[in-house]
Amino acid sequence: MPVAQNISHIRERIATACTRVGRRSEEITLVAITKTVSVPVIREAVKAGIHTFGENRVQEAAAKITGLGSEITWHLVGHLQTNKIKKALSLFSVIQSVDSLRLAQEIQRHAEAAKQTVRVFIEVNTSGESTKLGIEPKLAPELAKRVVEFPNLRLGGLMTIGALTTQTEIIRNCFQRLRELRDEIRKSNVPRVDLLELSMGMTDDFEIAIEEGSTMVRIGRAIFGERN
Ligand SMILES: *Cc1c(COP(=O)(O)O)cnc(C)c1O
Repeated sequence: MPVAQNISHIRERIATACTRVGRRSEEITLVAITKTVSVPVIREAVKAGIHTFGENRVQEAAAKITGLGSEITWHLVGHLQTNKIKKALSLFSVIQSVDSLRLAQEIQRHAEAAKQTVRVFIEVNTSGESTKLGIEPKLAPELAKRVVEFPNLRLGGLMTIGALTTQTEIIRNCFQRLRELRDEIRKSNVPRVDLLELSMGMTDDFEIAIEEGSTMVRIGRAIFGERN
């Protein structure tokens, strides 16, 4: 199916999931994940009204981002190596994959040198799967407290990847855990964090994520087709 049709189908599914739990679809940002997707195809998504995109590799993103307009916002959703931070800061307006104090410190150092501020999300490993990146849930509130102390970082939200399973209750638990952490961080009176986004939900589980409070779904395959 063409990209535009896939996008309108996803928007319908987002709206339906919202209705089920009494939410409004305007609460949800659709982030199109473009890894392995070419610039002409990304342009189709832009034409269909998407303006937030995500990539998981700095190098792959670099070529695409410069070829597309500046009205588009790019989020880094994959692991960030410290030697790529400088490049990442020139390309992305949000880094969703901050999972250690050390990485936050390094981003702060580069952002300060570049005289810029950057929005960061804390990535949390809510599934406990060893293959997944992200900080342990119980350590996330402390990292949030530290992140807001960095003058060039803005804590914008929390991000997680749901468990890789067909058992929906296990996936749901991951998303509930992220929401609880968001609530815990809010309650702890960390300054400037009342608007924390919950970035959770991908092609196979975004409806569950929306039911559990997601404000940002990251969709690749359902928009662009299966990746090779
Ligand atoms: C690839 C990727 C997505 C999108 O996954 P789909 O299953 O294609 O929707 C979302 N988030 C992250 C971090 C990814 O790496």
